[in-house]
Amino acid sequence: MNFYSTNGKAPIASLEKAVVKGLAEDKGLYMPERIKALPQEFFDNIENLSFQEIAYTVADAFFGEDVDAESLKKIVYDTLAFDCPCVKVTDSIYSLELFHGPTLAFKDVGARFMARLLQYFLKKENNGAEVNVLVATSGDTGSAVANGFLGVDGIRVYVLYPKGKVSPIQECQFTTLGKNITAVEVDGVFDDCQALVKSAFMDEDLNRHMKLTSANSINVARFLPQAFYYFYAYAQMKKAGLADQLVVCVPSGNFGNICSALFGKRMGLPVKRFIAANNANDIFFKYLQTGKYEPKASVQTIANAMDVGDPSNFARIYDLYGKEHAAICADISGATYSDEMIAETIKEVKAETGYVCDPHGACGFRALKEGLKAEEIGVFLETAHPAKFKDTVDGILGESIEIPAKLQAFMKGTKQSIPMSKNFEDFKAFLLKE
Ligand SMILES: *Cc1c(COP(=O)(O)O)cnc(C)c1O
Repeated sequence: MNFYSTNGKAPIASLEKAVVKGLAEDKGLYMPERIKALPQEFFDNIENLSFQEIAYTVADAFFGEDVDAESLKKIVYDTLAFDCPCVKVTDSIYSLELFHGPTLAFKDVGARFMARLLQYFLKKENNGAEVNVLVATSGDTGSAVANGFLGVDGIRVYVLYPKGKVSPIQECQFTTLGKNITAVEVDGVFDDCQALVKSAFMDEDLNRHMKLTSANSINVARFLPQAFYYFYAYAQMKKAGLADQLVVCVPSGNFGNICSALFGKRMGLPVKRFIAANNANDIFFKYLQTGKYEPKASVQTIANAMDVGDPSNFARIYDLYGKEHAAICADISGATYSDEMIAETIKEVKAETGYVCDPHGACGFRALKEGLKAEEIGVFLETAHPAKFKDTVDGILGESIEIPAKLQAFMKGTKQSIPMSKNFEDFKAFLLKE
């Protein structure tokens, strides 16, 4: 399968090139040339298949032409070493819990898949050269990528993060790992980290010295595998006899997650409609209402993984729907919530059902609660475990929520990181010595 750029000015790329490069030469996002519809028999029988069997069928449609069946199966099965259960919250609202992976957030799925696919291509090239993954993070991406690549042969990961700007829980998820993961603590803000990564990709000396690649969320190998759990959610709801009028609500920031769901729909997934739930960063919500896409600076909220003012995957959604506003609105509606509303929702859901939402999932729950029609059943994505946002959630609920053992284990490790200035020459000198 080949990939084209949403900007239309870059050459067509193979899967390998799209994965290793990440972004097209014209700064567009790669899109698969075809989206294959899955056969009706698959959907007829889906409730009898395991998560991994379902995911392999979906993966085969995108990657099967470029990766041999045995290897692809192993990549999928290794990636999905944890469950994504649909849990009942109310009679008509279910939570698709995507926090049972190593870093307790949905990004584990894409990061683990990408690490394994990249390793597959490196082995095939077989020139023994190590690949260096650079990733700038404001928190969650760094931990998912670092843990996704942990212990993967032939790959070194450098996680750049702003000193004092990530929560202690987030920080320990990428500074305590050791092995092939190096944490770099930059004396600056997130944008400084991102600038260092960008400069490194453009620096000729560095690129002669070492093979560099990015594990940004726009990478097709991180983004497409997210479709897996939408099919699995459908299977679980079908098994329960609740899938006839299914509405799926996705708390959205960069819109990669919901975009993979829309690819799923194009492959035949029988979801009736989607809702994109935003925090106060309402660019997509406004687009749905006005037909105008007007990016602006992001504002900080308590659902901080969705603090995005110019969602990069908008370009993919726009392309997928032939740039037609009406077609996009036919499949997706929007919602936007202030911090006060998010807090109120967390409190209400806990009081009425006992379920604890994280601030992102709370946006999803609320959009279903407000938007479901009587005959519809809704599934929202619980994109992270509430304990990842413990201070916020504790403050709202007035109690101390439990930290899962997996998260506690990270907190017991010893922190190791390389202090770094925000000057590129310092970072370059460091990498040249590696
Ligand atoms: C990254 C993230 C999101 C936003 O996902 P997008 O694919 O960027 O829309 C939502 N919730 C959590 C917890 C996240 O980490």
